[in-house]
Amino acid sequence: MKKDMTQVYECDVSDCAYNKHNSCHTLAITVGGPEDCPHCDTYMVTALAGGIEDVKAGIGACKVSSCTMNQDFECNAESVRIGWHANHPDCRTFRPRTTT
Ligand code: SF4
Ligand code: SF4
Repeated sequence: MKKDMTQVYECDVSDCAYNKHNSCHTLAITVGGPEDCPHCDTYMVTALAGGIEDVKAGIGACKVSSCTMNQDFECNAESVRIGWHANHPDCRTFRPRTTT
């Protein structure tokens, strides 16, 4: 398992308090379920801007064990993209494990 934090290299959810210029500026996000549609659980809409200008977010934790990149509820991808899906932000790097 890699021990450095996976980066969020892009997020197009522009109405989130932590988003600026398609980047996420909190220290770390949490990705949650459901297992077939991993949401960004840190997403927040508020009138105030959040985050830290010169910080790019990492994945602090991911609860989605059905993803091939998940090991022990940590993300092992090189980097991830978060994007809008239906009415919520999802991890678009999610790759489901095949059940054969
Ligand atoms: S990754 Fe999540 S917390 Fe960060 S800007 Fe996108 S929706 Fe917001
Ligand atoms: S790539 Fe997989 S393990 Fe990493 S944050 Fe997304 S859903 Fe979680």
